[in-house]
Amino acid sequence: MSLTTSAPHSPLIDGCCTQDRLAIIRSLSQAVFEPLPQALVSPVGRITIPNQRAIRGAADMIVFGSIATGSPESPNAEAMAIKDGNIVGIGSASDVEGLTDASTRVVDSGDGFIVPGLIEPHMHLWSTVLADSWLNCSALENPTFDDVVNRLKANAATASPGDWIQGQLFDPSLYPGEPELTVEILDQVSRDNPIAVLNASMHYLYVNSKAFELAGITEDTPDPAGGKLYRENGKLTGVVGESGAILKFMAVTPMRSQEQLAAGLVDIMNKAASVGVTSMREALTGAVMGPGEVSALHQLNAAKRLPVRISTAQHALLGNDAWASAGVTPMSGDDMVRAVAWKIMSDGSTQGRSAYMRDTYVGQSENRGHPNMDIEACISLMKQGHDAGWQIMTHANGDAAIDMVVSAYEQALDGAAPHDQRHRIEHCSVAEPEHFERMARIGVHPSFLMNHVYYWGTVLRDNIVGPQRASELDSVASALAAGCRPTLHSDYSVSPMQPLLSARTAVKRETRDDGQVLNPAECVPAEAALKAITSDAAWQIHADDRGTLEVGKKADYAVLSANPWASDPSTWADITVHETRIDGTVAWSS
Ligand SMILES: [Zn+2]
Repeated sequence: MSLTTSAPHSPLIDGCCTQDRLAIIRSLSQAVFEPLPQALVSPVGRITIPNQRAIRGAADMIVFGSIATGSPESPNAEAMAIKDGNIVGIGSASDVEGLTDASTRVVDSGDGFIVPGLIEPHMHLWSTVLADSWLNCSALENPTFDDVVNRLKANAATASPGDWIQGQLFDPSLYPGEPELTVEILDQVSRDNPIAVLNASMHYLYVNSKAFELAGITEDTPDPAGGKLYRENGKLTGVVGESGAILKFMAVTPMRSQEQLAAGLVDIMNKAASVGVTSMREALTGAVMGPGEVSALHQLNAAKRLPVRISTAQHALLGNDAWASAGVTPMSGDDMVRAVAWKIMSDGSTQGRSAYMRDTYVGQSENRGHPNMDIEACISLMKQGHDAGWQIMTHANGDAAIDMVVSAYEQALDGAAPHDQRHRIEHCSVAEPEHFERMARIGVHPSFLMNHVYYWGTVLRDNIVGPQRASELDSVASALAAGCRPTLHSDYSVSPMQPLLSARTAVKRETRDDGQVLNPAECVPAEAALKAITSDAAWQIHADDRGTLEVGKKADYAVLSANPWASDPSTWADITVHETRIDGTVAWSS
C-alpha cells in the first residue's frame, strides 16, 4: 500500500465525511465545550488600520533597539512608540520624542533585534493536540525504523496491563526499504496492551491485535464508510486508512480531559511563539470537535490571553448552517481569535503517494493517487464558502488535483478575481507556471509547505515522484513571477514549525538529507522569502494590521538574536528568539 506523510490532516474528517462521524464529532464537542458566547460572535467586517489622527495622548511605551520594520520603504528604526497596543510612531529617537510624557514606560531591547512577529499561515492546533502526548515516533527523534520499534517496546515494558500504547508522527516514507508497522511487528511489542501509532500525515493508523479486539474488528468486518482496513490474503495487515476507519479506534482510546486539551493547546501556541510567531492560521477548524473548537479558543483566551493570535479556517464539510448556528460567521470573533476561512480538502499527501497526480508514482504502475471529490463537488463547496463571504483555502498537492482545483476556482468565481477574498491553494506542491498564471488572473494565491523540499526533497526525488516532479515542488519563484503573493507554512504537526528555516529553504532549496539544491531556478531572493513569513503571510490570513512594524499597525513583534533582513540566509535557521510581544506586552519569553 502507499504510505503517507505530508499534507492532509485530520484523522477524524476527510473528503468523504459521513453523517455518522459528524454525529460523533458534535457529541464530543458538546460534551467538552460550551457554545460560543454571543458577545464574541458579532461579525466585525474587514480589519481596518486605526487612523493615526484619532490617537490622542502620550504613548504608553517606547521601545528602543535595533528594529527591522519589514517595510521596504523604511526598513530600519531605533525607536517605536506604542499606545493601546498599536504603533503610533517609529523611526529615529527624535521621531518619537514628542509622543511621550512622564507616564510613558521605556523598554530597551538590549542586544536583541526587533522584527515583526512572524506569521504561520497554515498549521493545525486541534489534530495536533489530540495526539501530542503520545510517544514521539518521528524520524527526527528516531533515526532508524528499529529505533521506533525499540521506543514502543520500552514503553510497553513499563505499561500496566491494558494501558494503551500510543505513538504519533511515524513517517515510513523516511525509512526507504523498511516495512510498515504491521500487526505482526506490533504484536511483538505487546500482545496484552493495545497499540495505536498515527502516521505523521494522520491519514493512517497502525494497530496490533489487542487494539483490533477492543475496537471489535475482525477479519470479517467490512471496511467502514470513509475508511479502509488494509488486508493481505484476507488477513488484516494492521494498517488502517482514513478517518472512517481510524475513528473506530479513537472511539475506544482514552479521551483527554478538558484540562489536558486546554493545556495542550496552549503548549502548541507557546511552541509557535518560541520560534517568533505572533499570529497563525488554524487550517482545519472543526475537524476534531466540530464548531465548538472556535468557542473553546475564545474561552481559553478569556481565561488568560493566548500567546499567539489565532485565525481559523472552518471545515467546509461541516456545512455553513452548522457554523452559522454556532455563531461562527466570516470575520467574527476578536483580535485574538477570528474566524476567517473555509477549508476544502481536494486530495491526499505527496509523500504518502495519495496526492492526485497526472502520472503514476515511482515504482507503482497502478497508483497516481486520487481526488477526494470530483470537480462539481469542489465547485459546490467553493461557491458555498465564497457566497457566504469566507476566504477559501483549498488543499491540493498533486498536479492533477491542482488542475482540478484551479478549474474549479475559475468556474466558481466565473473567471473574475473575487473582491479581496484572497482565496488560496494550500501546499500547491507539484504545480507548473501555467497554474500560477491562471491563479493570479482570478486572485487565488498559493501557500507552500516549504519543508517538503528540506525534509522530504531527497525521498520525493529518488523514491516517490521522481526528479522532474520533485524539481517543481514548492515553486515559489514561478508563483512570484506569475503575480501571486505566495506564503510559506509548516502544516504543523506534519512538519516542524520553523518559519525562518522555511524562508531559508525558499532561498536555498537545499534538502536535509544530501544538501542537493532542488531546482535552483525556483530559489527566491531573501527579501521575498521573508515577506512570505511576515507581510504577505499577514495579508493571506486577512490580518492587514500585522506583518510589518509601521504606524497604525499592531505592536506585535519578536526579539531575535540576529536581524534576518541583514543576515546571510544560510544562518537564518540558527537565529534564536528572546521574546515575543502582542500589543506590545510580553506573550512569550525564553
Ligand atoms: Zn494542513
